[in-house]
Amino acid sequence: MNDIINYNMNFLVAAFLVLLLIGYHSVLSRKLYDYNSRIFSWFVILGILDVGFDLITTVLLSDKKPDFTRITMLFLTIFYLLQILVPYALFMYTWALCMRTTRAEKILGRILVLPAVLMGIVVLSNVRLGILFRIDGTGTYIRGPLYFCMYLYAYVYGIVTLACSIWSFQKIGIKKFCIILEFLLILGSCVGVQAVHNELLMTGFGLMLGILVLYLTISNPSDYIDSLTGLLNSRSFRSRAQQFYDYKKEFHVMIMEVPQIRQINMLFGSKVGDSIFGSISDELDYIAGPENSFRLSGKRFAVICSSLHDYENTQRTITDFLNRPQRAGKEEITVSGIVCGISDGLEFENCDMLVSYMDYLVSLAPSSMENVFLQGDQHTKKGFLDRKEIESYLYTAIEEDLFELYFQPVFSLEKNAFVTLEALSRLYHPTLGPVSPDIFIGIAEKNGQIRQIGKLQFRRLCRFIKEHPALLEKLENVKFNLSPAEILQEGCSQELLRTIQEFGLPHSFFQFEVTETVATEYSDRMYQIVEEFQRYGIGLCLDDFGSGYANLDTVLKLSFSCIKLDRSLLNGITEDNRAGIFYRNIVAVLKNMGYDIVAEGVETKNEMEFLRFCGVDMIQGYYFSKPLPPEELLDLLL
Ligand code: C2E
Ligand code: CA
Ligand code: CA
Repeated sequence: MNDIINYNMNFLVAAFLVLLLIGYHSVLSRKLYDYNSRIFSWFVILGILDVGFDLITTVLLSDKKPDFTRITMLFLTIFYLLQILVPYALFMYTWALCMRTTRAEKILGRILVLPAVLMGIVVLSNVRLGILFRIDGTGTYIRGPLYFCMYLYAYVYGIVTLACSIWSFQKIGIKKFCIILEFLLILGSCVGVQAVHNELLMTGFGLMLGILVLYLTISNPSDYIDSLTGLLNSRSFRSRAQQFYDYKKEFHVMIMEVPQIRQINMLFGSKVGDSIFGSISDELDYIAGPENSFRLSGKRFAVICSSLHDYENTQRTITDFLNRPQRAGKEEITVSGIVCGISDGLEFENCDMLVSYMDYLVSLAPSSMENVFLQGDQHTKKGFLDRKEIESYLYTAIEEDLFELYFQPVFSLEKNAFVTLEALSRLYHPTLGPVSPDIFIGIAEKNGQIRQIGKLQFRRLCRFIKEHPALLEKLENVKFNLSPAEILQEGCSQELLRTIQEFGLPHSFFQFEVTETVATEYSDRMYQIVEEFQRYGIGLCLDDFGSGYANLDTVLKLSFSCIKLDRSLLNGITEDNRAGIFYRNIVAVLKNMGYDIVAEGVETKNEMEFLRFCGVDMIQGYYFSKPLPPEELLDLLL
């Protein structure tokens, strides 16, 4: 018998030590004190106490000293109370993961404390009645008639916990479900073994294994921490913000983004970039404390403040930080950043809205190398809500095909006539009025709807030409915009070709406009697409040339038939001699290479005269015509 006790003791000592280690690490690591992590901490503490008391009582009982009867009884009663609390804590832990959202669920959660209270009373009354166990005069432990209730009780909570996770399967997902199941299986089988062979004290060890599994998976502190900076991550940000929403407590958010980090990494190496991130996180930690400073994504950080005073302080400190050169290894670098403030977090319905407003606010910041501070206000909020409205309207617009197509004719200086046109999409919102394509095309690209819009609009264009065959005589071609996200999708080019065939139109009457970025960033795929179009005699037009980052080498590898010079290149060409020389030489180079050149965004006679002098072939702009609805275009052309 003594061997078995020794054996049990070894298991318990091991379980106790592992639990102590888990407790130590989970207390020391940075974490969010949300409901889940609080319950997990309690669970670990209960586990430590439970195994600790299991150990003490096993020692006391193995010695069988009649003098110690009272003290043994006291420790055993505490141990039994802990045995009552542990299954309940496991249930609460799962409950916090699964439910706690609706009122009914919250009430049900409270009702389910009853079995624990009831068993607690049974354990306390056992001191007098001896219904669970008693200790006789020789110090021997003897089971009472209701002893089995302890096992029954544990299984009841086990089953409720399982039911609760099955019920919330959708919400928690397969991974968490499997972990809860694993926990229940480990603990359930250990309790089962002990129920059958009561000399094998397995529950303490089983509990430790279960907690270890949770610690390594669902409640692993590193899941909530950004590994590079050690700050809390975006998941923690959401949980933290949710706490404020749950308790309707005021809070404010300051976002900081460092757009330059890519350049810093490229210029000085990623070690320097990492070190800059280190300084930023130290600073934020210092300003807001470990619980309120976050790294949300690659270059974005955030701080949550619980008072306006803190919020203003944070803004000041971050601005000071950005104005100060940072030491990174041997370098001293001044980092510029975009700082955006949201002065009232509760203004938004929920965390999702808050996070997408944060994205929106940052997207408003101009791309410059200077520090920018953007304070969210009624104006930006309206812009954001309008955007949301447009986002949801787009679904209807696609379903009911509510788009329109306008046409901007393009003037040939040589032929002195309109020779081509660009089809431009239009959308009218019932309350917001006309929505700029820059906005709805951007949203559609982000939400994966661009191909659907492109399809509708391209059919509309083909239908229009089919209905007005005179256009085929009058114009050399028509130009249609294709977004990067659209053209690179599998099957997009074949679909466009099929539509042209379906309407029985000549392929060569179409040109597709793509922007510089597509052409440059994905040249391999683009190369195939350009070739495919070329086989059918369809031309490709490089749009917005000169507006952004140009990888000339890749651009030149692709055979475009036409290049559109971006409107931004026209800035100052008639006043600034250097801008003029630049424009003229770009035109000369591109013309020598055999491209047709369209100058975009021409608004004045001066600009037009200058472009004629440069030798530009075609002109598109308000000077000749704005984008026109179909009837007006027909009036103008035919
Ligand atoms: P984009 O392809 O660069 O189209 C030219 C834009 O410049 C049009 O803006 C046009 O109205 C405007 N524009 C033309 N002449 C002038 C001028 O003299 N001065 C000024 N200030 N602007 C001029 P719009 O129609 O607002 O379209 C904006 C962008 O939306 C387009 O830029 C294009 O990238 C995109 N877009 C429009 N329709 C479609 C479409 O059906 N599919 C795709 N993928 N993108 C589209
Ligand atoms: Ca275009
Ligand atoms: Ca353009």
